[in-house]
Parts: sequence; C-alpha cells; structure tokens
Amino acid sequence: MGHAQNKEYSQRDYDPIERDGEELISTHCCFCGMQCGMNIRVKKEDKSVVGVEPRYDFPMNGGRLCPKGVAAYRQAEHQERILHPLIRKNGKLEKATWDEAMDLIVSKIQEIQGEHGKDAFGIYSGSSMTNEKCYLMGKFARIGLGTKNIDYNGRYCMSSASVGFNQSLGIDRGGTNPWSDIKFADVLLLAGSNTAECHPLSMPYIWGARDRGAKLIVVDPRQTKTALVADVHLDLRPGTDVALANGLLHVMIKEDLVDQDFIDNHTTGFEELKELVQSYNPKYVSEITGVAVEKIITAARIFGQAKNGFTMFARGVEQHATGTDAVSSYTNLCLVTGKIGRKGSGVATFTGQGNGQGGREHGQKTDQLPGFRKITDPKAREYVAGVWGVDESEIPGPGLSAFEMLQALGTEIKGLLLVCSNPIVSSPSVRDVGEYLKSLDFFVCMDMFLSESAELADVVLPSTVWVEDDGTTTNVEGRVLRLRGIDRTPGESKRDWKVICEIAERLGRGQYFQFNSPEEIFNELRVASKGGIADYSGISYEKLDKMQGVFWPCPSEESEGTPRLFEDLKFNFPDGKARILSFEYKGPNEKTSKEYPVILTTGRVVFHYLSGNQTRRIDSLRAFCPDPYVEIHPKLAEKYQVSNGETVKVTSPRGSIELVAKITKITREDMVFVPYHWGKTLAINHLTNPALEPKSKIPEFKVCAVKLEKVKQTVGEKHG
Ligand code: SF4
Repeated sequence: MGHAQNKEYSQRDYDPIERDGEELISTHCCFCGMQCGMNIRVKKEDKSVVGVEPRYDFPMNGGRLCPKGVAAYRQAEHQERILHPLIRKNGKLEKATWDEAMDLIVSKIQEIQGEHGKDAFGIYSGSSMTNEKCYLMGKFARIGLGTKNIDYNGRYCMSSASVGFNQSLGIDRGGTNPWSDIKFADVLLLAGSNTAECHPLSMPYIWGARDRGAKLIVVDPRQTKTALVADVHLDLRPGTDVALANGLLHVMIKEDLVDQDFIDNHTTGFEELKELVQSYNPKYVSEITGVAVEKIITAARIFGQAKNGFTMFARGVEQHATGTDAVSSYTNLCLVTGKIGRKGSGVATFTGQGNGQGGREHGQKTDQLPGFRKITDPKAREYVAGVWGVDESEIPGPGLSAFEMLQALGTEIKGLLLVCSNPIVSSPSVRDVGEYLKSLDFFVCMDMFLSESAELADVVLPSTVWVEDDGTTTNVEGRVLRLRGIDRTPGESKRDWKVICEIAERLGRGQYFQFNSPEEIFNELRVASKGGIADYSGISYEKLDKMQGVFWPCPSEESEGTPRLFEDLKFNFPDGKARILSFEYKGPNEKTSKEYPVILTTGRVVFHYLSGNQTRRIDSLRAFCPDPYVEIHPKLAEKYQVSNGETVKVTSPRGSIELVAKITKITREDMVFVPYHWGKTLAINHLTNPALEPKSKIPEFKVCAVKLEKVKQTVGEKHG
C-alpha cells in the first residue's frame, strides 16, 4: 500500500540512528505546513528529549530539515515551560492546583453565561494543534459551552486562500497536487511567497523542476532569496496583485496563449474575464504595479506558452483587503491555460501554520462544521447533530470571526478561552487588542509558554508540547499525517484534549466528551466529516501508518485517498465547471499620503514561527535573528539620512515603533519591510491596518501607510 510519489521521493531506505539508552519517536515538525518528518531522540530512562534525527522514510522532506526544524525539539525541556496551573491573585499569576483552576473556570463560565447568555463566552483557538484538538474545540464550543463565538488564528493566514479556492474550484485544499508533481512543471509562478525562507523544504521541489528546464517567475515586492533565483522577478508595489494578474491575463488572451478547449468544456466566466482585462494592458498595469512593461509581457508569455505549470502563492497575496480577489485572479492563470488536474499542473497555497490545513477543516472556524460543512446548511447541521447525539437546534449558528471577536471583548463577549494562540502579537493594531483582553471579566489561556497574551490571563493552564502529542495533522498538500507523542506530561501539565473533556464534565456536558485517546476523537471526526468536502471517513491511524499519510478526500475503507484533485476535470460545482472570476483592481484599504508617504509590509524570517512565542525562546534561533529590523532601500534611506544600524521611528496612524535600519536593495524604494515575530514594544502589529477582507475577514497585514523619522540614538544605546 502506498502512493507512487512516496517511492519517488524517498532518498534512501529508512536508516534510523539509534543510540544506547535512547529511543526514536517518529513525528512531524511543528513549525510550518510542510510537516517534515523527523525522529525525536528520547532517553529511555527519564523520557527526556535530547535531540533530533532525520527521517528518510517520509517522502515530503526525505530527511532534510530547515533551521527551525532542527531546533524545534529544544522546546521540550525548555526552562520557561509552564509546568503547573496559574491563577491571578492580587494582580499576579501564582501557582495553583488543577482543582482550584478548574473550579474557578467552571464557576466563571456559568456566572458569565448565566448573566449574559451563552454567546458571552467565546473561544479563540489555534491551528498549531492536531486535527483531534481542532475538532474537539469546535465541538466543545457548540455542545460544551453552547456558544456561537468560536474562531481561530488561521483566520489571519489561510482564510483568503480558503474563500478563493472555494469560489474558483469549489474545494479548499492547500494544494491541488502532491508536492512531488512540482518537478514536472515547465513553469512555476510563485506569488507573495518567500518560499526559500518560509517553506524552505519546498525549494528542493522547485530545484527539481528547474533541473528539468522549468522557468521560475516570482511575484514579490522584495528581491527575496526566492526572487534572487527567478528567471523573471515581478517586483510589484504591495497590494497590486489583482492588477498584475489581470495584466498577465490580458497578454495571454491577446496573444492567444489560452486553452480554448479547456475553457469551453471545463469553465464558466471566460467571456466576462476577457472583457474585463481588455483595459489591463501592460502599460496601464505597469503604472499601477510599478513592474516594467517588458517583464509583464515576458512573464505572461513564459506562463502561457508552457505546457505544464503551477501557480503558487502565500500570505503576500492573501493578507489584503482584496485577498480573495487576488487568490481567484491568480487561479485564473491556470484555468485559462488548462494547467490543472494533471502531473505538473495545478494551484497551491503555502500553508504557514503547522496544521493550517487541518485546522480549518473540522469545525473551529465560526462558520463551519466538520468536513468543511457550512454551519448554515440545514442538512449539514442535521447530520453533525446526529453524530454528536444532540438536537439540531442545540448547534448555534455562525458567530464572529477572529478579529471581530477580539473587538467584541468586554462588550458582547465577557469571557474568553484562548488556546494555542498569541493574538496580542499576531493581530493588527495590537495596542487595541491589549485593551480588549484587559476588558474581559474572565480570561483563561492554555499554553506551554507564558506568551504576551497569557501574561494578561486570569488563569493559565499548562499544555503539553507537540512532541508529547499523539494525533494527526494535515499538511500543505492535503495529506493527513500521523504524529506520535512521547508518553509523558512534564510537571503538572496536561494534554489539552483531556482538559477540555474535564471542563465539559464539570459543566454537566460530559456525556458528549467521553474520549479516552486522540484516536477515539479522530474516529468520531471521521464520521462527522463523512460526506463532507474534506471527507476523512476512510482514514484510520492504521492506514496512516502504512501509507505515510493519506490525501483527503478518502471516503471509504477501500480508498487510498486522492493525491491529485480534478484529474477527471470535474470541479466541485453542480455543473462540474471551474469558475473563472473577474475582479477589477481596487487597491489597498489604506493609501499612502503626504503625511504617511511610505508603504509598510510585514512578513516572516526563516528563524521564527508566527508570534515567536516558541522560537524566540530557542537560543540557536534567537542568535540568528534576535530582534526585528526595518529594511529600507538605499534611496529611501538617503532621503531620511539614515545609515545602516541606526534607529528609525516608523509611525502609522495607529502607532509607532523604533527599529534598527537595515539598508538593502532587497526592498522597493517606496516601501519598508519589517518581520512580525516580536511582542510588546517590538511588535510591528502596533502599526498594521485592521481593515478586514469582506469575505474572508483576514486583516490587511501586508499594506499600511507609514512615515519614517531618524532617531538620534545608536543600536547599542537602545538594545544594550
Ligand atoms: S520546512 Fe517547515 S516543516 Fe520542514 S523543517 Fe522547516 S519549519 Fe519544519
């Protein structure tokens, strides 16, 4: 049993390096959606984690790991782990017993819901958790608490891709193809993805395609490490993706580089697109995007003339007030040229969070039930209510999205359970988020480290780290994977799923949460997802072990899953046709002005993960990138008379931050770039714009208007 692509990419036979007195636990990296396979070295004597070894048997990374993957294990024995419950007393978090903490949590939930209604207690969940935990959070919110207000931090990263894929293809799987298909492409168009830094283990696949002669087109406002190796770098002004995609489509249609047969038989909407993009000639698009006319034409010809190719994108495309338009516009490139549904051709988004794919499939999104079912769909509600053993009327409707939930704290929402998230660093306009959290009547947080958000909680519960978790995740390809955990819970930490079941028990809802293992939760998830778009019903732990993961949908015991979507060219709409959708360019929500003349864009670096709550604590990663900085083009730096290493105050209409200047030609002259992995006074999200994309509700992290001022202070004085 096993997919062909597994054999193809295994580097060599499985060759674990076992040392005396140690055992190897096979699991997957927690730090991005690639979910690279790895072996954790564990001392048999005391079950302490002492290192990491490659896993050559897992085909996705074939033994390779990036710097984050190599260092991830160092969280396990970290001295800053929370090892017992904490309760705020006289303004300070103090050690408490589990009974004290649970009694307080349950009494506060009952008090708040009794006084203000069920929806007054919300859950803000996360996607860096197993599928089992994500499923359980969705069920606990609806059936344990009876609240409609649950959403999760994936709202900030994956939601535009999700809406875009659904509206264009009728299905939201991060990749339409297994990654092993990438090397068969003749062209790769990577938009808004610094793949080399943010998904480093995707690069061997891109090199595989390059080795076969594929061309690489990179769309990015910065000359990232990925853009450096491109054949064409489309260095667009941030927030102009829709115009650029329309410009590429204009050239391809004008020069008859489209697949009319595919368009006629397998799509709708082409004539509307053709009409819309008529005005997006290269000159006009160049004026909007700042990309040279010749580069637009060259890129369009390369993509249009190639037989096989991929369009792949990430947060640079998605985290905009028009992010879903941009996702569908780039998807159009593959639809008009028929590049989908076969080896070497497809569409993908690079999933950022470890379980960014699985985390959005099984019900912790406020508008969804398990299996990508809509919570407003009467049939879906009826089915899931049957699985959960409740009346359909007991399942609440949709609640508020992640940032809307934060804005409602203290008013509509009086109590909050925060799980595996750090919104006071990762949200836009974070000064406001701090005030929202402080206005809660009761705030409980589950985490392994005392994050900036957890510091504000009334109760903090100690969680296990990922190497202690059994369960599954779903990677960037849509491949469901098995994680094996070390059988230990350091100090008084407990597994999140057990804590949730215990709270449900104490609330008198325990009959719906009688789980004894992650596998039992997964088996219920399988049934709950059956017949949904993300159908896991044919996936068992046993099958996952045998096959090195299974691609969903997998609708029966006999099925081996679906590595490649749309091979029959039937898209997930009643007529089986993909939707070519047309969008006019609208531009960013916040424009530059005389007062704020520079564009700020934010992003990631290879050494850190999300809000940095984990990676900032790991010495080897922190040593490479201890502090944030602001990248400034030499010409812009000259205008403000700033030299390398000097301090610059960056100010938007929402706040200011002082940062060390890194003068570099990587960025465009009209913008600056700042990585976002730091909190408090170093959080760039003090400045970012909370404008939400109307369909996905993703905030516009990638563009806001700022001004720069040189601060007469040296780096040493500031940090040292
Ligand atoms: S590429 Fe992603 S999953 Fe792989 S080792 Fe690096 S952070 Fe971990």
